Amino acid sequence: MPIDPTLPYDDQNIFAKILRGEIPCKKVHEDDHVLAFHDINPQAPTHVLVIPKAPFVSWDDFSARGTDEQIAAFVRGVGEVARMLGLVAPGYRLLANVGLDAHQEVPHLHVHLFAGRKLGPMLM
Ligand code: C5P
Repeated sequence: MPIDPTLPYDDQNIFAKILRGEIPCKKVHEDDHVLAFHDINPQAPTHVLVIPKAPFVSWDDFSARGTDEQIAAFVRGVGEVARMLGLVAPGYRLLANVGLDAHQEVPHLHVHLFAGRKLGPMLM
């Protein structure tokens, strides 16, 4: 079920539970600001989710309320994950779903990182 991205942050969402260590994940990378882990339902040979360690509902919420420091740390964290996985030369795709039409399911900002095959001109 897609979520309403205008609702306030719900600290019982599944990624908040992963961040608190209440639910396991297959971790790829972690630093003070971001956590990256394999998607449980991969849509490509590499399908990693990168999330900030701060309570933001969506990309919209983050871009409106995040501090410059948080935004810089998150953007750098996403890039670091891709470099760490050796994805720069073959290439990769980033995607952030926001709200109902985009079918955002988890109300904690996450960027999908897809790689490992030819992804085609667009992923719909
Ligand atoms: O962008 P959207 O909200 O639709 O994506 C949520 C993603 O979170 C899905 O790709 C889903 O497979 C993933 N997920 C996960 N681990 C969970 C619950 C959802 O990797 N425990």
